[in-house]
Amino acid sequence: MKDNNENSYEGRIIIVSNRLPIVVRKESDNIEIERGSGGLITALAPVLKDRGGKWIGWPGITEEERIDISQALAEANEDVGYDLEAVVLTQEEVNNYYYGFSNEILWPLFHDLQSRCNYEPRYWELYRKVNRKFAEKIESTVKTDDFVWIQDYHLLNCARELRTLGVRSKLAMFLHIPFPPLDIFLKLPWRYQLLENLLYYDLIGFQTIRDRVNFIDCLRRFFRGVQIEGRGQVVLGKTADREFRIGVFPISIDYSEFEKAARSQQVADRAWYLHEKYPERKIILGVDRLDYTKGIIQRLKAFENAIERFPELRGKVSFVQVVVPSRINVPEYFELKQEIERLTSEINGRFTTSGWVPIHYVFRSLDRDDLVALYRTAEIALVTPLKDGMNLVAKEYCASNIEEDGVLILSEFAGAAPEFKDHALLVNPHDIVGVADAIYQAFTMDIEERRARMKPLREIVRENDVFYWVDSFFKGALSRDLKSFPVVKDYVPR
Ligand code: UDP
Repeated sequence: MKDNNENSYEGRIIIVSNRLPIVVRKESDNIEIERGSGGLITALAPVLKDRGGKWIGWPGITEEERIDISQALAEANEDVGYDLEAVVLTQEEVNNYYYGFSNEILWPLFHDLQSRCNYEPRYWELYRKVNRKFAEKIESTVKTDDFVWIQDYHLLNCARELRTLGVRSKLAMFLHIPFPPLDIFLKLPWRYQLLENLLYYDLIGFQTIRDRVNFIDCLRRFFRGVQIEGRGQVVLGKTADREFRIGVFPISIDYSEFEKAARSQQVADRAWYLHEKYPERKIILGVDRLDYTKGIIQRLKAFENAIERFPELRGKVSFVQVVVPSRINVPEYFELKQEIERLTSEINGRFTTSGWVPIHYVFRSLDRDDLVALYRTAEIALVTPLKDGMNLVAKEYCASNIEEDGVLILSEFAGAAPEFKDHALLVNPHDIVGVADAIYQAFTMDIEERRARMKPLREIVRENDVFYWVDSFFKGALSRDLKSFPVVKDYVPR
């Protein structure tokens, strides 16, 4: 956090998220803790270190497992330079609060997939209980001038619980996933309670204007006379008895880390190997966690449509689709995996020739160098989620594309669309023919146009990296002057 007069701040920073940024491993009798990685951790670690801050979250193991991690956690604290504090959950809590309310209700609902929701009353009960548990843990350590920053949809009730417990510190929430339109939000049986609980935060941060507009529409429906003041990145909301800020902060990546990795010898070697493996072919790349929001099925169909309608693509493109395993024990996710595999082999069965396989399917997590080598080498990135809070893959692709000749095909429903709308090829992921046309357009695009598009995309990510995001969030929460925030751009589909 920059220490200028505007937003200087003396207290500690307390980050709270569902999962602690660690992985606990049990090797026979030994407990080992590995540090997590990723942009958010990289950006927050220096701030936490500097402030003697804290990160509170669930370590990923249940009470029933009876694994004592206190010693390993104390060692990890030494190592990372700030405190990690564990909220221990029972198996029942994990099943109902995490798998249930968070992932069977909020996740599909907030991604506009209401028919996938399972409104089990028990889920809400345990969601409230676990949010209270998190609040009690925070309350046991927080001081009034600390700043508590709560992450994401698992902990929407926390602020209200904290205020009930008498905590007076500044409380902020950042929602990493989208906020749904009013019509969809209305389906939630606990819509009023959830919305009202959110108003106990001093700042509620969203990824895009789209999400904030949806949130404000919902407020207007339930809180008559709600007032919204200001116009920029941060506005002020007022109901009869509450005042809160509502901000837009598009999350980002550590640009220089990706750019540096892309220029490294290891990545250059792997990129060379990829060129050898796919000679005379353009690589079209998809990288997604296994999730029904990512639009992988629709994308495979669009690729099939492209090679069907544009025969000159055959033998000239290879579609590499990386799927990172996720929630594979949940039946819906397992079925999605099967459907992806069935469709992939059907398309390959239809079009493969002696020298060409159209789709290369990878179902595992890649190591960082392999991923960056793919980003660097792929001529076309196909990022087509049905809806996404942001989509970091789109930003990582641009940061790693150091030759500046790649084309980004991006869903207009990704949170990244407003920032990238002028330079990416925006598509509606449900429009199979439209996405196929975009693939062909990208394939035939001349080098001048590709450069003219990729250069500004890289510039946008470079200027608005994850460090900038952390800074602007703190400013949004702590700055006194609302007028100091810039106007933010929205994307409205034509
Ligand atoms: N990623 C990964 N292993 C892989 C491929 C990707 O860890 O093999 C990472 C990728 O670098 C990115 C994240 O997974 O940071 C995906 O983030 P995104 O915002 O695109 O989607 P999310 O999974 O958060 O919905």
